[in-house]
Amino acid sequence: MGKRSRGKTHIRCRRCGRHSYNVRGKYCAACGFGKSKRIRRYNWQNKKFNKVRVK
Ligand SMILES: [Zn+2]
Repeated sequence: MGKRSRGKTHIRCRRCGRHSYNVRGKYCAACGFGKSKRIRRYNWQNKKFNKVRVK
Protein backbone atom coordinates (compact mmCIF):
# COMPACT_ATOMS: atom_id res chain seq x y z
CA MET A 1 0.00 0.00 0.00
CA GLY A 2 2.71 2.38 -0.86
CA LYS A 3 1.31 3.83 -3.98
CA ARG A 4 -1.99 5.42 -4.19
CA SER A 5 -3.26 6.99 -7.31
CA ARG A 6 -2.95 10.66 -6.89
CA GLY A 7 -5.54 13.19 -7.70
CA LYS A 8 -7.40 15.36 -5.38
CA THR A 9 -10.67 14.32 -3.99
CA HIS A 10 -11.40 17.31 -1.90
CA ILE A 11 -10.72 20.90 -2.60
CA ARG A 12 -11.42 23.95 -0.59
CA CYS A 13 -15.06 24.58 -0.10
CA ARG A 14 -16.19 28.03 -0.91
CA ARG A 15 -18.95 28.03 1.61
CA CYS A 16 -17.30 26.74 4.73
CA GLY A 17 -13.72 27.25 3.69
CA ARG A 18 -12.70 23.78 4.70
CA HIS A 19 -10.79 21.43 2.54
CA SER A 20 -13.74 19.16 2.13
CA TYR A 21 -15.38 19.95 -1.14
CA ASN A 22 -15.52 16.79 -3.19
CA VAL A 23 -14.48 17.44 -6.72
CA ARG A 24 -16.09 14.45 -8.30
CA GLY A 25 -19.21 14.47 -6.24
CA LYS A 26 -19.60 18.21 -6.32
CA TYR A 27 -20.46 18.48 -2.70
CA CYS A 28 -18.79 19.42 0.48
CA ALA A 29 -18.25 16.73 3.04
CA ALA A 30 -18.13 19.22 5.85
CA CYS A 31 -21.01 21.56 5.27
CA GLY A 32 -22.96 19.71 2.62
CA PHE A 33 -22.55 22.40 0.04
CA GLY A 34 -23.83 21.07 -3.26
CA LYS A 35 -25.83 18.43 -1.55
CA SER A 36 -28.20 20.42 0.50
CA LYS A 37 -29.04 24.05 0.71
CA ARG A 38 -28.79 23.95 4.42
CA ILE A 39 -25.51 23.73 6.15
CA ARG A 40 -24.72 20.21 7.17
CA ARG A 41 -24.54 20.19 10.92
CA TYR A 42 -24.78 17.51 13.49
CA ASN A 43 -24.89 17.85 17.20
CA TRP A 44 -21.97 15.52 17.56
CA GLN A 45 -19.87 18.10 15.85
CA ASN A 46 -18.93 20.00 18.88
CA LYS A 47 -16.95 22.60 17.15
CA LYS A 48 -17.83 26.10 16.39
CA PHE A 49 -19.33 26.22 13.00
CA ASN A 50 -19.93 29.61 11.49
CA LYS A 51 -19.80 30.96 15.00
CA VAL A 52 -23.26 29.67 15.66
CA ARG A 53 -22.80 28.33 19.09
CA VAL A 54 -25.26 29.59 21.59
CA LYS A 55 -25.15 28.06 24.98
ZN1 LIG B 1 -18.16 23.26 2.91
